[in-house]
Amino acid sequence: MNNAAQVIKTSEPVQGREIEQHLRDQVAACTLMLNELKIMGYSGHVSARLPDGRGFLIQSVDQSRASLRPELLLICNMDGYLLSGPEGLRPPSEVFLHSEIFRVRADVHSIAHFHHDRSAVFTLADGPQLAPVKNHAVRWANGIPVHPNPNHVNSPERGSALAATLGQAHAALIRAHGQVVVAESVPGVLVDCVHFVENAEAMYDACMLGRVLPLTAEEIASFGEDIKRTKHINKLWTYYVGRALSMGLVPEAWNLEAKLQ
Ligand SMILES: [Zn+2]
Repeated sequence: MNNAAQVIKTSEPVQGREIEQHLRDQVAACTLMLNELKIMGYSGHVSARLPDGRGFLIQSVDQSRASLRPELLLICNMDGYLLSGPEGLRPPSEVFLHSEIFRVRADVHSIAHFHHDRSAVFTLADGPQLAPVKNHAVRWANGIPVHPNPNHVNSPERGSALAATLGQAHAALIRAHGQVVVAESVPGVLVDCVHFVENAEAMYDACMLGRVLPLTAEEIASFGEDIKRTKHINKLWTYYVGRALSMGLVPEAWNLEAKLQ
């Protein structure tokens, strides 16, 4: 082994620990905020990919989404097996939803799975399919696929099938069950969850008034050019973190900068 390789090896763990702690703070805060916004509810989970192929962070099956803390998060590998975490805590049964998407989508660094009724209703009727109707829903211009199997994603096979349904999309509906939103970061997942639910609720309301007019290809292309995604994520993450701090939902001590070190 040459010296350069040794230097890299000895410097990695320190940086890795800092990033892991930052991700822990972000995942816990994101979960608490999604719960407070009534997007997450009593079940569902947010995950974040750890650097250097070290697996991903996810909460345990029993921990309340209303009181999650960074130190309670587990580390699982891409087979969905528990690598480390507080004694006695187990991964959620749907851990394979996360592991199998992370396995095949290198661009995805954070995943949220939740069970939002107004979004799920689009899988329950022989009516309009959920489509981008609001400007920020251009994020889903390449589709919102519907996974046909409503079962819990509680095996590698079911996780792999869901990942195949998701394909290169940024969100999917699971029929009669829930939603999956994927993004490049935890702040990105929070912002996308907010806009995903906004869009579903707006489309539901529009359905009450008449024939829905989804965004046209021209409108999607035009608005897509206007949006500066990183800037928009930073703006909304800062807003929701500020809101959470003022409510006492998260402590000042957590590192909730949008960008990782
Ligand atoms: Zn579920």
